[in-house]
Amino acid sequence: MKRILLWTGVGIGTAGIAVLLVLLFATCTFGNHAFRGATCLEPETCQRCGITRGEPLGHEFCEATCTESETCQRCGITRGEPLGHEFREATCLEPETCLRCGITRGEPLGHSMTDATYQTPAVCTRCGYTEGEPLPAALSGKTLNELTVGVPAPYTTASYEDRGVDVTGTVEITDYEVTDGNELFPPRDGYEWHVATVRLVFAGEDAQENGAQSAVTFGDYYLLDNRIAVREDENGLRPFVADWYGTQVQCWQKTGPNEEADWYGRELRFTWQEGVLVPKGYDGVLLIFYNYRLFGDSTRLYLPASEVLDESTPVFRMQ
Ligand SMILES: [Zn+2]
Ligand SMILES: [Zn+2]
Ligand SMILES: [Zn+2]
Ligand SMILES: [Zn+2]
Repeated sequence: MKRILLWTGVGIGTAGIAVLLVLLFATCTFGNHAFRGATCLEPETCQRCGITRGEPLGHEFCEATCTESETCQRCGITRGEPLGHEFREATCLEPETCLRCGITRGEPLGHSMTDATYQTPAVCTRCGYTEGEPLPAALSGKTLNELTVGVPAPYTTASYEDRGVDVTGTVEITDYEVTDGNELFPPRDGYEWHVATVRLVFAGEDAQENGAQSAVTFGDYYLLDNRIAVREDENGLRPFVADWYGTQVQCWQKTGPNEEADWYGRELRFTWQEGVLVPKGYDGVLLIFYNYRLFGDSTRLYLPASEVLDESTPVFRMQ
C-alpha cells in the first residue's frame, strides 16, 4: 500500500513538473514573452500571445534628392516626390549644371566673340573673355619724327619763290590741349577738341632771301589716311572719319585764324591753331608738316598722309 502511494506521489510530481515546464516554455503565463523586434510601424510584439511592448520605431527618412523621394532607411518606404534638378543656366564654358547634384545637361554655350578693333582685342560679349590683341595700327612699329610740345624741331620746305630752293626753319607745338570746346571750336556731345597751337619760324639767310611756304595735312595713326574733306561747313568744320571701336565715326577738323603770318624783324613767323573734334579719348589723329614741294600744284587741300609721311617728316600725334 505504501509503495502504491509512493509511486502515485512520484507520478503526480512528475506530471506537475511537466505541466510547469510546459507553462514555463510554451506559454506566457510567467511573463516570459517571446518578443519580436519593433519595426517602423509596430512595437515589440510577443509572437506567442500578441502582447506588445514600447512604441513602433517610426520611419527614419533620409532627405529627398534630385532623382529620389524621401526614403525610410529601415523599411524602404518612400514619401513625396523627388526634388528634380535645379539647373543653373549654361555659360560660355560650362553646360547647364544642377546646383544640387552637379549633373550637367547639354553643351557649354561657347564664347560669342566680337571682332578685334583698333582699340580692343576680340572680346566675348557674354563673359568678357578677350583673345589676342587689338588690330595693329597702320603706323605701329614705324619710325616717326614725332614732335614734343614746347620743343622746336627742324622743318624743311620749299621757298616762297620756289626755284628748286628749300629752306629750313623750325616747327613747334607751343601749346596743346584737350577741351570740350569754345567759341572758335564749337562743343559737341560725346566729343572733345584736341587743339594744337603751331608755330613755324624761318630765320635763316635762305628764308630771308626766298621766303617759305608751309604745307600741313592730317593723317591717322591707325588708318594712315583719314581723307579730310576739302569743303568746310559754315563753322569752318571739315569732316573726316576715324575708326573707333570698330565703328566708322564722323570727326571734324578746323583751322583757326593766323595769329602771326609775317616778318618780325628777321624772322618769318606763322602761328595758328589746328583743332580736331574726335570722340572722347580718340588718340589717332596726326598733324603732319611736310615739304610744300610735294604739294606742288595739287588742287587738293590736304594730301593723304601716305603720300607725304616719311621718317623725317615732323608729325604731332594729337592724343
Ligand atoms: Zn506573449
Ligand atoms: Zn520605415
Ligand atoms: Zn540635380
Ligand atoms: Zn564667353
